[in-house]
Amino acid sequence: MTSPLMELRDIKKHFTKKADFAGKIAQRFGAATGDETVFAVDGVNLTIAKGEVLGLVGESGCGKSTLGRIVAGIHQATSGDVSYGGLDLSDLTKSEQARVTLEIQMIFQDPFSSLNPRMRVEQIVGEAPLVHGLCTAQEQSDYVDQVLTQVGLDPMLKRRYPHQFSGGQRQRIGIARALAVKPKFLVCDESIAALDVSIQAQVINLFMELRDRLDLTYLFISHDLSVVQHISDRIAIMYLGRIVEVAPTEELFAAPNHPYTQALLSEVPRIDQRNREFGAIKGEIPSPLDPPSGCHFHPRCPFAQPICSEQSPPTREISKDWKSVCHFSQNMGIVA
Ligand code: SF4
Repeated sequence: MTSPLMELRDIKKHFTKKADFAGKIAQRFGAATGDETVFAVDGVNLTIAKGEVLGLVGESGCGKSTLGRIVAGIHQATSGDVSYGGLDLSDLTKSEQARVTLEIQMIFQDPFSSLNPRMRVEQIVGEAPLVHGLCTAQEQSDYVDQVLTQVGLDPMLKRRYPHQFSGGQRQRIGIARALAVKPKFLVCDESIAALDVSIQAQVINLFMELRDRLDLTYLFISHDLSVVQHISDRIAIMYLGRIVEVAPTEELFAAPNHPYTQALLSEVPRIDQRNREFGAIKGEIPSPLDPPSGCHFHPRCPFAQPICSEQSPPTREISKDWKSVCHFSQNMGIVA
């Protein structure tokens, strides 16, 4: 892998959940109910190379969106370091901060709620480039036309409001708004999850085209492995705040190492395994308020041994660019 554009070192993000009204009353009567800590991200190390697409996959509540927001600069990490282009994000000058804020853009899941319903598309797409001096007021209209064309939207529609577009078109407007400030790194958080399957394929193709045309780098977050398979060079699997496996996409799909990855993959319908029964992962993801000891996955893991609840597993290198976090990773590698 070439030198990383984005590097995360031991990132933790903890939220404090204050005691509710009942909890405060209970405290007054001497009950030991205090504030609770949500361990949303719990020691993540990741690198993303320039021009790479890294898929980040996990069940709802695993912390992947929180991690995406840390990468996009929307959340501050509780501890750990984030560096972008060799710069430590917590230690930027004002001008570096302004540049990095434009270079890293986020595309959200629900295009409708992330677009201002009172603004026309030309304002939604054209506002930021004008404010940041990427175009003048005279150039703004042509600039918006160019960006809309880039995402496959007819510039003639730019005076319409978001509600006058379909779901797929609205997501294209969201992508156009991000592209309008000439980003280099896109964080796509479940960006196609709300779309119909046929539209999902179109938007994935658009992301791929834009990557080639504009030399973009992506962190592509999804709960659906089959979606990220088509777009990602590598995939990182997240479980309860931790990355449990990261591998090149082909290797991960051919022979997943971590039991959680194996379980996720067994739930993906595959045309070459039409007669296979689906194997749902047993149980539900535990609460990040009280994560299990040792390996967080042990209450649900079919291979769990006593050591799994006692000690956190080490990160082992399976091969180049492939890491798995399991006490028995050397014995795993079952083809799904
Ligand atoms: Fe399963 Fe143990 Fe490996 Fe965790 S460390 S994934 S519980 S075998």
